[in-house]
Amino acid sequence: MADNRTKTAPDTKPDLAAAGCHAGAAEMRRAAQAAGKSDVLEGYARDYPQGPHDKPQSMCPAFGSLRVGLRMRRTASVLCGSACCVYGLTFTSHFYGARRTVGYVPFNSETLVTGKLFEDIRDAVHELSDPEHYDAVVVTNLCVPSASGVPLQLLPEQINGVRIIGIDVPGFGVPTHAEAKDVLAGAMLSYARKEIAQGPVPAPRQGVEERPTVTLVGEIFPADPVTINMMLEPMGLAAGPVVPTREWRELYAALDCAVAAGLHPFYTASFREFEAAGRPVVGSAPVGCDGTADWLQAIGTACNVPQVKIDQAKNAILPAIKGALAGAPVKGRVTLSGYEGSELLVARLLVESGAEVPYVGTACPKNAWSEADRQWLEARGVEVNFRASLEEDLAALEALKPDLAIGTTPVVQKAKQMAIPALYFTNLISARPLMGPAGAGSVAQVVNAAIANTERFESMRDFFEGVGTGDASGIWEDVPNEHAEFRKKQRARKPAKPLSEEPVGC
Ligand code: SF4
Repeated sequence: MADNRTKTAPDTKPDLAAAGCHAGAAEMRRAAQAAGKSDVLEGYARDYPQGPHDKPQSMCPAFGSLRVGLRMRRTASVLCGSACCVYGLTFTSHFYGARRTVGYVPFNSETLVTGKLFEDIRDAVHELSDPEHYDAVVVTNLCVPSASGVPLQLLPEQINGVRIIGIDVPGFGVPTHAEAKDVLAGAMLSYARKEIAQGPVPAPRQGVEERPTVTLVGEIFPADPVTINMMLEPMGLAAGPVVPTREWRELYAALDCAVAAGLHPFYTASFREFEAAGRPVVGSAPVGCDGTADWLQAIGTACNVPQVKIDQAKNAILPAIKGALAGAPVKGRVTLSGYEGSELLVARLLVESGAEVPYVGTACPKNAWSEADRQWLEARGVEVNFRASLEEDLAALEALKPDLAIGTTPVVQKAKQMAIPALYFTNLISARPLMGPAGAGSVAQVVNAAIANTERFESMRDFFEGVGTGDASGIWEDVPNEHAEFRKKQRARKPAKPLSEEPVGC
């Protein structure tokens, strides 16, 4: 069929399909606003306030939302973005064991500017929406389609009973992959809440819990909900589903809680849905002795549990946590930085284990739900840096010279160069139990083992001494010439006016 619509982009708009990731964040943001995405960007700016760290310094934020979708049963995930972005996201998903197909709707300059891309997405969604296989189809606009205003909000709300969720997750609007998890979790909770308002919804697979429940918001170690359930029992409460959920029908049970526990503080959009459903939200988490006592008190109070029962709950668990902390002390100075959102909780646990923790950097923002943790840590001399940039994390490492650095990949790399033992926060710390007595023992075990490795790091540094650094690292007959003049020449060749001074996320 002939398409009479304009085939070229107006002069005033950048050619985003061509520029893609190379257009600056400011350029992309301007384009998105001009293309009708102002509301989405303003919403993100409110939910995920930016700071010094206002653009991804780690992985593409869309990995967070993609992972949430890929972990759900009967949910199809479709990406729309530049091929290189989709390749990276698909690769990372499978690296982390997704075992699900990632759908992709490709585009080119023409399909992007003529609106054909939206039609392609709509066709793909119609083709996928088979209720035999799916409860929901999640379509995600990455940077370029978001900046171009591809209107996912015009997709049908459901097709053959399969829910269609369209989200924009651009690197220039969502600062971290942690917050991108909230973008999708919040969108799903919002959809589910409207379904509940319209009439009866399916019960949870394992049946309806008779006791009032506490929904656990945040991706936590699989054993943690079991521990939390045990802690809640004396108060007549039970642990409810974990959000992000693993299945659509769990969303209904999650919203049907007595209180939502914001174990990870960055789920702003999700918390808004709980509050809209009339459910209070309690921040922090049951980590260490103080954290557990405060958390049980806050949860019990929010659920109108009599004080005597709250005290019973505390008395039942606190001695065991105290014993675990005393039995697994951590001796040494530890700096901590990460982008998972649980950094403050881990720092609390380390401080209660006896470690000296002078610095905690988190890529997540300061908000009401991390306030109690911030106050507790700062009262014990810990510098808490929200929206910490990589440069600040590295500067803290260099200045404080800890016995152990827990951090992101570049922080760990730098620490190892300094012969300081280091642990990856994401793989080695946030993937461990943190709650209750198990949390105390588990973190201490890995931290102490790493600190005990100091000598090995020193001998490695000595072994590699003299092999050079940066461009000159390696064994050479002659030390390579840096050719600073070539760099200068190449730099001079760059356009006088770059697309933007601000690089987009990656
Ligand atoms: S943040 Fe980077 S990888 Fe992610 S969609 Fe944007 S340009 Fe692509």
